[in-house]
Amino acid sequence: MPILSRPVPAPPQPSADLDRLGDEIAELSAHLDAATARLLALIREFDARGGWNTGFSSCAAWLGWRVGLDLGAARERVRVARALGTLPRLAEALARGELSYAKVRALTRVATPETEARLLAVGRAGTAAHIERIVRGWRRVDRQAEARQATRQHAERGLHVYQDDDGTVVVRGRLTSEAGALLTRALDAARETLYQRARVTGGATAPDPAMALPTRAQQQADALALLAETALHHEIDPGAPGERYQVVVHVDAAVLADPEQPGQSVLEEGSHVSAETSRRLACDASRVVMRHDDEGRIVEVGARTRTIPPALRRALLHRDRSCRFPGCHVRVGQGHHVRHWAQGGPTTLGNLVLLCRRHHHAVHEEGYKVARGRDGALDFRRPDGRPLPEVPPTVPVPPDPVHTLHVQHGALGLQLHPRTAHPTWLGERLDVGWALDVLHPRAVGPRPC
Ligand SMILES: [Zn+2]
Ligand SMILES: [Zn+2]
Repeated sequence: MPILSRPVPAPPQPSADLDRLGDEIAELSAHLDAATARLLALIREFDARGGWNTGFSSCAAWLGWRVGLDLGAARERVRVARALGTLPRLAEALARGELSYAKVRALTRVATPETEARLLAVGRAGTAAHIERIVRGWRRVDRQAEARQATRQHAERGLHVYQDDDGTVVVRGRLTSEAGALLTRALDAARETLYQRARVTGGATAPDPAMALPTRAQQQADALALLAETALHHEIDPGAPGERYQVVVHVDAAVLADPEQPGQSVLEEGSHVSAETSRRLACDASRVVMRHDDEGRIVEVGARTRTIPPALRRALLHRDRSCRFPGCHVRVGQGHHVRHWAQGGPTTLGNLVLLCRRHHHAVHEEGYKVARGRDGALDFRRPDGRPLPEVPPTVPVPPDPVHTLHVQHGALGLQLHPRTAHPTWLGERLDVGWALDVLHPRAVGPRPC
């Protein structure tokens, strides 16, 4: 079998000309790393101040849209930017062009404020390949420590339920973090169901001490009781995902057509939702039309139908493929009626657009607008009316960006030269096991490699 390979050029004759070329590559790379440090600092501030939260699901999604990074690279930038916020030494080394972005990126996967100084020394001394190997070993040590901790936590789980002398029941226990998160979420949901209505009605009337909201602990107790009741009622069967998350909304026809109209708009359990929320839920749902009279009594119940029939939903998924909100590529979505069916909008492909849960919320409850032009193109707008284009306009770049970079770095007092980022490594073999024993705070016992 023929092996195709590119011809390898003959080794060049040493020349001052090639040395200069190599130096120029090294020096410009240092400049780019220094500029990357500034870029990451800007991203960190933008992220912390929520500048991306203008319809985008994350800072990475915004970066993908605004500067055209692929999502993986964008996530990595945001991760490194956040990490450098607590690692000033690494941030400074990158800003001075002494440590490449590749090295800093690898080191930030494991560095903490306590280990930063040691890892910076590794970064200065080693090549990018050395650092990759040390970071991999470091994570192995971390993982071993984590696994030991998880085993201990699992062994320490327990729940004690016993009756006190007066008949009340005392509950005390310790859950693994996973089970704990599950319980917390369930309690939150149950509390929400129990007390949302009380908040809505309680705010408007004069405070009545008998009607005052229970304390947080009392609410938690009531929520736990509701969880137990619900679990027993459903015979501890979680059911199919579709059933679990199904929401039923009772709503007056007038409210659905015009959110300004007074009228009923409630979830089945009775907690109040805004008219806009009920419009969102009704956009793509099982629909049961219930007519209410003036006193709220149900006078007529229609047959249950899907707002968007399955065949039309398949056509919508095939056409849109993923959420159509600019910069979003989430594939799981809901059908949004550009003109709501309650206002006479037809349930046709032309009036539907696929939006993910996040962006469906944005267009109903956060003031984002979407319209379909005559040519069928979608026009997204921010709450202030400014357009949100699919592809943002390009930024003007100076005619000689490299020169501009040099001038800017000169003004910052940066003295970059071809050996700024050169490792101090002299060519000796890297012993990762030994390096970790010396460097890692938790490296005890058998060597990881
Ligand atoms: Zn909708
Ligand atoms: Zn989306």
